Amino acid sequence: MKRLLTCANLVEAQHKANLLIAAGIHAEVRNTYLAGAVGDIPFVEAGPQVWVNAGHDVQAALNVLAAADRVASDPDWVCAECGEPIEGQFAQCWQCGAMRPFA
Ligand SMILES: [Zn+2]
Repeated sequence: MKRLLTCANLVEAQHKANLLIAAGIHAEVRNTYLAGAVGDIPFVEAGPQVWVNAGHDVQAALNVLAAADRVASDPDWVCAECGEPIEGQFAQCWQCGAMRPFA
């Protein structure tokens, strides 16, 4: 297997592993026990890590995470139909069902 990335904390690492698993990619979180040692050893070695099978899974995994980041970084918007403020990850107004207008 190959280390895909190192995360700042275990919650983030597990979240990303879950995204990959949901996309059908075998992923494992490793290095979960060293978090308390940050400061004594380089961070990149100390943070929780997400590992995937070496080979084509690596690029597929990066694509999944990049797509997830794009969704998460969409700006909040205001529904044109009812004026409800909506968080950026939602494409539809939860109150009236109107779709987000394309920017
Ligand atoms: Zn609405």
